[in-house]
Amino acid sequence: MKKVVKFGGSSLASAEQFKKVRAVIDSDADRRYVIVSAPGKRNPKDKKVTDMLYECYAQAESGKDFLKLLRDIRDRFQKIIDGLHLKTDLSEEFRIIEQRFREKAGSDYAASRGEYLNGIIMADYLQVAFLDSAKVIFFDANGEFDYEKTNDTLSKALKDVEKAVIPGFYGSAPDGKVRTFSRGGSDITGSIVARAVKADVYENWTDVSGCLVADPNIVENPEVIDIITYKELRELSYMGASVLHENSIFPVRIEGIPINIRNTNAPDEKGTWIVQSTGQRAKYTITGIAGKKGFCSVNIEKDKMNTEVGFGRRVLQAFEDNDISFEHMPSGIDTMTVLVHQDEFMNKEQNVVSQINRTTHPDSIEIESDLALIAVVGRSMKSSRGTAGRIFSALAHANVNVKMIDQGSSELNIIIGVTNDDFETAIKAIYDIFVTTKI
Ligand code: ASP
Repeated sequence: MKKVVKFGGSSLASAEQFKKVRAVIDSDADRRYVIVSAPGKRNPKDKKVTDMLYECYAQAESGKDFLKLLRDIRDRFQKIIDGLHLKTDLSEEFRIIEQRFREKAGSDYAASRGEYLNGIIMADYLQVAFLDSAKVIFFDANGEFDYEKTNDTLSKALKDVEKAVIPGFYGSAPDGKVRTFSRGGSDITGSIVARAVKADVYENWTDVSGCLVADPNIVENPEVIDIITYKELRELSYMGASVLHENSIFPVRIEGIPINIRNTNAPDEKGTWIVQSTGQRAKYTITGIAGKKGFCSVNIEKDKMNTEVGFGRRVLQAFEDNDISFEHMPSGIDTMTVLVHQDEFMNKEQNVVSQINRTTHPDSIEIESDLALIAVVGRSMKSSRGTAGRIFSALAHANVNVKMIDQGSSELNIIIGVTNDDFETAIKAIYDIFVTTKI
């Protein structure tokens, strides 16, 4: 068996956390490739090293004195080194970082140093090889991740390596400059490495015991999801559920490698399995609920719009011409609704409306703002009857007015639109009906 294990920032925030990580790695010889994030917060008031690096680089770039902050960053690493009684010497590394900051090496370079240095320390601590991601993870000239070049190089580089530490979050561009993924991108690195070594499992270690059925800020102590498919997770992450970086599914999906989300602080818990497909029925009819606030609906009405060829295209053209992407588009016989992000839409609202008026001559256009979308996701919904009925009766009992309903043809999800004010109440009501009362 071959396992790729990725540890997030909170799992690596201090020497104590490093010790827990080593215990996890030592307890299973299959855990061979270790991906590290930069040190995260040690307590809620603390700063993430990545944020400190961005800040420090911004000071350097604007010609301010950045050395004090750079020393604070160095202190963070030194505390870990001392706490682990290591002899790792980062003086030369910090000399280079200082010089590269003065040369304005870029904020991606700056941010990447958190993972880079943490990787050096971890490799020293575990006594295994260190592989700099800049040499094996590549972006193309447009800044897009280069899947095939990376996969080729990385699989060759790790072919005969028994164990290694690889820093997450960054790689390099064709001009040799360091580039990072978006924030939280070490998850993607883990997935890329898992694909390259054809791992049996990609373990993603964090500070929660897996993906939760609902947001814990809304539902008290929500249950952990035992098993979820890539597709279900994709639906939930799109709607804001945030355990994994949403792009981290794609590399492992190519090889069908399962992801296991685990908790470094509770290593005996099984966590959540994210898989290609499963015959196991979910514990409840629904797998998860997630949602987002801040949408606007544009409702266009015109008698017999269904007989007008090109009507829908002309409506959508107005959004495209104003550079606005739409999220959903439920429609009726003589109505069509386009849901968009409020902050993107607001300052272009009148341009869009006037273009729709000009090109489609509708009977009316109504705009409603401050809407929230909630996705109720579950592979078991397909084979169970009455799911939608239960959702809507739960919402009716909670006094929530449903503004919009959209069920994907895959029957994997039902999207419901409510007002921003009803958002939390609606999520609680749906959670209660499916999970608390278990029907
Ligand atoms: N350290 C980076 C961040 O804070 C990347 C990561 O941790 O995945 O976003």
